[in-house]
Amino acid sequence: MHSWIADRTRFFDSSGIRKVFDLAATMTDPINLSIGQPDFAVPEPIQNAAIEAIRSNKNGYALTQGMPVLLDKLQAQMDARYGHADRQVFITSGTSGGLVLAMMTLVNPGDEVIVFDPYFVMYTSLVGLAGGRVVLIDTYPEFRIDLNKLADAITPRTKAILFNSPANPTGVTASADDIQAIAQLAADRNIALVSDEIYSCFQYDEPFVSPARFNERTLVIDGFSKTYGITGWRVGFVHGPREIIQTMIKLQQYTFVCAPHPFQWASAAAMDFDMTPYLDDYRRKRDFVFESLKDDYEIEKPGGAFYIFPKSPWGTASEFVAKAIENQLLIIPGSIFSARDTHVRISYAASQRTLERGVEVLLKLARNC
Ligand code: PMP
Repeated sequence: MHSWIADRTRFFDSSGIRKVFDLAATMTDPINLSIGQPDFAVPEPIQNAAIEAIRSNKNGYALTQGMPVLLDKLQAQMDARYGHADRQVFITSGTSGGLVLAMMTLVNPGDEVIVFDPYFVMYTSLVGLAGGRVVLIDTYPEFRIDLNKLADAITPRTKAILFNSPANPTGVTASADDIQAIAQLAADRNIALVSDEIYSCFQYDEPFVSPARFNERTLVIDGFSKTYGITGWRVGFVHGPREIIQTMIKLQQYTFVCAPHPFQWASAAAMDFDMTPYLDDYRRKRDFVFESLKDDYEIEKPGGAFYIFPKSPWGTASEFVAKAIENQLLIIPGSIFSARDTHVRISYAASQRTLERGVEVLLKLARNC
C-alpha cells in the first residue's frame, strides 16, 4: 500500500461489487439484476418540484440540520407516529450520510457493534472506519434474528446493534414480535439500537413496524432515495434522542455541511405524493420472481425491499455468478454481503421483460449443472 494511505482505508474493499458493475459497462444488452435502485422514473410532480426549487434560487447552502420546509414536516410526522418527547429529526446527505455520522457519533475505538450476517455492504466498513469491532451474527438459512444468539453476543464492550428490516440483501422482514424483543433487549442492556429503515415503504405483506415503537431511544436512519427513485439526490434523515442528534448535526457541519438544498424542497413535495401504485408494482415483481424460482432454488420468500437471496444451486456463489455472467446475467455473489459465499443477490428492480429473461437464465443454470 502507498505510504501516504491511512490504515483505516483497509476496511473498504469495494472490488467485488465494482467488478460486476465494470463488467456491466462492457456488455451489450446484459440482463442486469444487480442494481440496488428502483427502475421507475421519478414521478413528474416530484421532478417539477426540483426544477422549481432550482429556478427559484434555492441553490445555496442549506441549514446544517435541514430546511424547515422538510424538517418540520418530518418532525410532525415522527411526533404523531411515536409521541416521544425526546425524538428529534435532522436531514442528512442520503441514508449513507446518516449511517456515517451515526457510527462516528456512537463508536469509540475498541467498541463492539453487532451486525447481522448477511448485511448491507457499508455496515462493516463504517464500523471499522470508526475504530469499532464488528461482531457478526449469522442468520442463515432463514435470515431471522435469533434472540438467544443476540443476547449471547452482547459483552460489556457492545455499543450498538445495526438492524435493517426490510433487509438488503435478503429482502427478509423481521416479525413484529422479533422487532419488539430486539428493541426491548437493547433498551434493557443500554445498547444503541440503530435501525436502517430505508426500505420501510417497500414492505409487501404486513405493515411496517419500527423498533422505535418499543424502544424510544432507537436511532432511526432513513431516506428518500429508494421510495421515490431519487438515489442521486442524496436526501436522507435521522431521528432519535435529542443529544445524539445534536452531536450528529455538529459532525455534519464539518463534514457533509448539508444535504442538497433544492432536493430538500423537492423531497418535501414528494412526501405528499402517493407512491402506492409503484409499490404495488414491486409486490407483483416480487411475486413473479419468487414464484418462478421457488421450485428450483432454496429461497426465503422476501417480504420487502427489492431483493431475493437464493442459495446457489451448485458450487460457490462466486462460481455460480461467473457462469451467470457468461450467460449475460448480472447478479451479485453473497460474499459481498457476508462471511459466506453460498447465496446470490438478485435485484428485481427491473422491467418485466428483463425479469423474464433473467428467470429464464436462472432456471437453465439450476437445471443444467
Ligand atoms: N441502507 C441500505 C440497507 C441500503 O440498501 C442503501 C442503498 N443501497 C442505503 C442504506 C444507502 O442509501 P442512500 O442512497 O440513501 O445513501
